[in-house]
Amino acid sequence: MVDTPIGPGSTGMNLNHIKVCARCNLRYDWRKSPSSMKMTYCSSLCEKADLGFTLEALLRYERAAAEPEAEATPAV
Ligand SMILES: [Zn+2]
Repeated sequence: MVDTPIGPGSTGMNLNHIKVCARCNLRYDWRKSPSSMKMTYCSSLCEKADLGFTLEALLRYERAAAEPEAEATPAV
């Protein structure tokens, strides 16, 4: 008799949403992670500690840099 461990009701938790933080090895529900890399880090603190910056800050920086007041005067 084959007992399949995978199936509705076989486990109380939905492990599909459980990730292990790359920084602190904490198991967490990635949907609840405040990190912008929520699939990788349990929190923005771990993200920042591991990367040295947060993606959020980086994106904000790039967005600011992407608006250089395009007044490139033609050199001719
Ligand atoms: Zn963590």
